[in-house]
Amino acid sequence: MAVYSQNSVQDDLREFAVDLLSETGGMVEWQDDQSQGSALVPIEVGQCLGQNSESFVLSNEAGGAGLSVSLGGQFLDLAVRTLEHFVPMRGAFAMPELNIKKSDFQQIVDAAFGWQNARARVKQGIVGHTTYHTWWLNVVLHSEDTWETVIAVSVNSSSLLPTELGSVLDSMDLQSSKTPIVHEPETLHVAGMIAQRQTIKLARSFFDRADQRLNRDRKRLKDYYAAMQREATTTNRRTKVVPSDEEIQDRKRVVGLELKRKLVELDDRFAVEASIKPLALAQVEIPTVVIEVEIQRKSAMRVYRLYWNALRKSLEPLKCSRCAEGSFNFWFTNDTVDAVCNSCHSSKPAE
Ligand SMILES: [Zn+2]
Repeated sequence: MAVYSQNSVQDDLREFAVDLLSETGGMVEWQDDQSQGSALVPIEVGQCLGQNSESFVLSNEAGGAGLSVSLGGQFLDLAVRTLEHFVPMRGAFAMPELNIKKSDFQQIVDAAFGWQNARARVKQGIVGHTTYHTWWLNVVLHSEDTWETVIAVSVNSSSLLPTELGSVLDSMDLQSSKTPIVHEPETLHVAGMIAQRQTIKLARSFFDRADQRLNRDRKRLKDYYAAMQREATTTNRRTKVVPSDEEIQDRKRVVGLELKRKLVELDDRFAVEASIKPLALAQVEIPTVVIEVEIQRKSAMRVYRLYWNALRKSLEPLKCSRCAEGSFNFWFTNDTVDAVCNSCHSSKPAE
């Protein structure tokens, strides 16, 4: 975990303010070592930030003139409002053409894939663009404690499989594109599933801590009620009244029920509520070769599309018809020639 000093928080805030105002079409002048800067922004942006003018002073001290960029004042509320109003949550981009040599696609496909019970013949390779969606998702886990992160997931919007795109969005030759954004719900669904899986790994220590605390509290409760049980069955020290068997059973039952109720309450308190919320979407068209492969299983045929990504310079996996995961090793069913990955085939053979 990062340790923040007063200075680094202030630096982050200044950087964020400069980025925010630049993204909304403004110009900012604010040096690292200065406590003040100046901004010139569209008037609507200025108003959204609580300023009456399109030019104003930025300062890292609370309560000063202009916009106070600090944690103390209203800055974060104003910034969130401005971000929501003026910075688009979705954007479409395209990578320029890359020179793709028409090579021997059959060899590339055969080297990457294992076709266990079928013949695969490359029909053609179509050089063009394929659309990918990069989603940024805000993940929040909440129980007694809160854990939060942002996860970015890229998905091929045609194959609906996750793809590692690296720093493509930082690429200098990315151009903005007018291509409409389509298949948004489908790629968001895939990105959400991947984010869930990553969260389970990333938040391991959060879950472990919650488990430890839950176990510790469960043990305390059980010890406490065990002591109560013992007391309920012994002779009252003051009155010297010896409880009857029936009374003992009755008391044991009451104490047992109370313990059960407390344990349920405890589990509720430690139950983890999770939320995954999309923050932003970038659609990027990336040069690809769409390779059509004809799969022949006995007398049945079916054409599948494989994606050779020019950015990664490799083939992407194919989707399993059963588990929807990507794989490079497949079995095919008779007649419908459904693709079945190796692990699905091991649990229930394709044929
Ligand atoms: Zn599978």
